[in-house]
Amino acid sequence: MNNTLLNYKQIIQKIDSCKKKNRNKEDVNLTVVSKTFSADVIEPLILEGHKIYGENKVQEASSKWKDLKQKYNNVRLHLIGPLQTNKVNLALKTFDIIETIDREKLAIKVKNSAENFLNKKFEFFVQVNTGNESQKSGIELTKTKSFTDWIINDLKLNVTGLMCIPPLDQDPATHFKLLMQKKLECNLRHLSMGMSNDFEEAIKAGATFVRVGSAIFGKRY
Ligand SMILES: *Cc1c(COP(=O)(O)O)cnc(C)c1O
Repeated sequence: MNNTLLNYKQIIQKIDSCKKKNRNKEDVNLTVVSKTFSADVIEPLILEGHKIYGENKVQEASSKWKDLKQKYNNVRLHLIGPLQTNKVNLALKTFDIIETIDREKLAIKVKNSAENFLNKKFEFFVQVNTGNESQKSGIELTKTKSFTDWIINDLKLNVTGLMCIPPLDQDPATHFKLLMQKKLECNLRHLSMGMSNDFEEAIKAGATFVRVGSAIFGKRY
């Protein structure tokens, strides 16, 4: 068995045991973050039966996944990186779940473009800037509820969750708790949080999607 597959199986085991210890019945899904890695590295995981993948760049994902998605049509692709309005069409063509809705202009553009993809069932997450970092994308914590309500009620987009990327220099658990509170307030189903270094912490705090890259594929260059 190659390393990637071995790492993947270990992560799945860790997720399962952490889930058993800390959670009731809700699902914890693994989003395998395949950014920078090529199709031939990803394909063994697809053949192993894994269906959920995350990419952070629209252009890269579009060319990498075009053939893969045709070949394996039950793969679900998540956009986990910032989305510019001029890439919305390509993003909707490429992805099934967009986790990074974080501003009005983007939400409106997504709403209008989604009309070109009527036979595709999208899900959207709102990205929350839990650390109020000026350089980071995401809606402010205090604006999350009104923003999310507006997207659901006025734009009628299928928002099902929240996502966050905690500040590098802080305890992620604090941010996971903040996002969990917000999820309850917004009455949503999903929480996308936790990466290679802290996914177990995130599961304890209620994550329904953890996003793991380097612990599976190795270091990115
Ligand atoms: C790259 C990335 C990940 C995966 O990070 P690892 O530490 O390699 O697991 C998760 N979430 C986002 C938003 C990312 O950009």
